[in-house]
Amino acid sequence: MPPPVPERRFDETVSTDWRATLRNAGALRPSAGASTGASDSDGKPVPPSSPSAPPPQTPASSSGAYVLPSWLAALDLSAGLEAGRLQLGDLAPDVSALPTLEAISARVAGCTACALHKTARNPVPGEGHPHADFLCVGEAPGAQEDELGRPFVGESGQLLTKILGAIQLSREDVYICNVLKHRPPGNRDPLPEEVQVCQPFLLRQIELVQPKVILALGRFAAQTLLQTTTAIGALRGKVHGFHGVPLIVTYHPAALLRNEAWKRPAWEDVKLARRILDAARTADRGAE
Ligand code: URA
Repeated sequence: MPPPVPERRFDETVSTDWRATLRNAGALRPSAGASTGASDSDGKPVPPSSPSAPPPQTPASSSGAYVLPSWLAALDLSAGLEAGRLQLGDLAPDVSALPTLEAISARVAGCTACALHKTARNPVPGEGHPHADFLCVGEAPGAQEDELGRPFVGESGQLLTKILGAIQLSREDVYICNVLKHRPPGNRDPLPEEVQVCQPFLLRQIELVQPKVILALGRFAAQTLLQTTTAIGALRGKVHGFHGVPLIVTYHPAALLRNEAWKRPAWEDVKLARRILDAARTADRGAE
């Protein structure tokens, strides 16, 4: 039997360590004080006069409806989009031939395919369990990630760690990476051409890790992986398929830090992702 998921929200616990979370069960902490300032769903402040930012890429959606495998259909979930027409190897044959995550990191470190390497201090390829069942995809490194060369180590990373802890996953259990592997200056949105040249690394990472569930954090991760321009609010709350892997979309942790109202739906999303992880593990055990 999979371990039960505690009904304690990620913003109600003191510790980011699930063992300590269990030890401390009952010790509640007030919600992190979130700003109520206007922000987009990726957590970036939206200047009053700024038009909404363009999506990272604008191909017509290649996605049809995700046909749920029987073990998922049994959970009575809403199906979303399926992204799976592209052959990963078609995108960048040299990247698709990289044999390991370490080889990807080395290639990222020497990558000059876009201008971001000129302003970034360090590449941030990704980190975590090389065969994680659960894989998180964010947008791009921020200042602290750029400084340390590690994904999600700043404020939104601390919240992500807490979110994972609330569904009994530690950072060592999961794999965490971003759409872009170098920091955009000033944390500006990724440009379509940056996403285009960088996404083969992400796709190859997913191919090598072979997760059972993907959690797309924020609009750029969701729209890039699902090859769609659909708004995040319409993508979340459903099970999508990414090359056959169930994919859940939720708000970016930075967005949750700025908008308290998104925490409840995000908590529903991550609980859904955990349910799917449990069901996938059970289905795999049954198939053995
Ligand atoms: N935001 C992201 O999308 N990724 C990181 O690694 C950090 C912040």
